[in-house]
Amino acid sequence: MEEKLKQILAEAGQVLAQAGDLDQLNEIRVRFLGKKGLLTGVLRGMGSLSAEERPKIGRLANEVRSEIEDILARRTAEIKEEVKKVRLEAEKIDVTLPGVAFMAGRKHPLSMIQEEIEDIFLGMGYSIEEGPEIELDFYNFEALNLPKDHPARDMQDSFYINPEVLLRTHTSPVQVRTMERTAPALPVRIIAPGRVYRRDDDATHSPMFNQVEGLAIDRRVTFADLKGTLQAFVERMFGPETKTRFRPSFFPFTEPSAEVDISCVMCGGSGCRVCSQTGWLEILGCGMVHPRVLEVSGYNPEEVTGFAFGMGVERITMLKYGIDDLRLLFENDLRFLAQF
Ligand SMILES: [Zn+2]
Repeated sequence: MEEKLKQILAEAGQVLAQAGDLDQLNEIRVRFLGKKGLLTGVLRGMGSLSAEERPKIGRLANEVRSEIEDILARRTAEIKEEVKKVRLEAEKIDVTLPGVAFMAGRKHPLSMIQEEIEDIFLGMGYSIEEGPEIELDFYNFEALNLPKDHPARDMQDSFYINPEVLLRTHTSPVQVRTMERTAPALPVRIIAPGRVYRRDDDATHSPMFNQVEGLAIDRRVTFADLKGTLQAFVERMFGPETKTRFRPSFFPFTEPSAEVDISCVMCGGSGCRVCSQTGWLEILGCGMVHPRVLEVSGYNPEEVTGFAFGMGVERITMLKYGIDDLRLLFENDLRFLAQF
């Protein structure tokens, strides 16, 4: 019996040394120390021992039990430590690895230029007005001195929803809407940025594009004020060395009217492909607000005067960044947009 106990201890030591995880340790505990385990099996046979042998074997059995328990406890601690080590190894973070590039959003070049235009005019005391993109024929044409039979009113260019409603073809209706609201208060100094719509689509025209309208109304506003204002704008937008040139033009809602050219941003005025060798680039239209527009909007043209201008945000953006195809601004190709 003594032999048997020593054999159990030796066997337990061996299998415990080989056990690889906590489940196996538990199986071994049941096999050796459980109610139906090997050690209990031996102790059950103690009834057949002599009176002097019984305490000796009893003591030995207890020693074997406590020794197996000790080994079990040690192996449990060892295996737990190993499991922890493996897990830490797996979860290790290498802080020296290069970071994962994060695609951050950025502003579209049109938004950047529009904000720049807004900042320049806000700095000159203008405020920002908005108007509806779906506009009444009255505000888009009629109130701007373009009656229904006017030749400058080309049906082919407009998106009509019904005979009285259309997608606005310019931001000029915001002039009338603003003056209607403010009249007869003075002064009026607003810019109106926004989307406009025309039936055009090629390398230099898009069916939707962005304009910024400008309007200043007060007593004794002159063409000189208009020139000074636009010259200041051009110098802020394109640099102080940029020259401006006013060419006589025609718009139904201004009189006199002019188109404004700036000295070519590419060649500085000496002539190149971009400016068709002229040294000048057209950037906007402007003029003194027509007396009939003032009248329709609630101002007395005998008492007040004003000027208005309208520019294309796409045009300014293309000139400022040297972009030669308008469509690049609307294709949303990140290889293009990421350059700004
Ligand atoms: Zn040029």
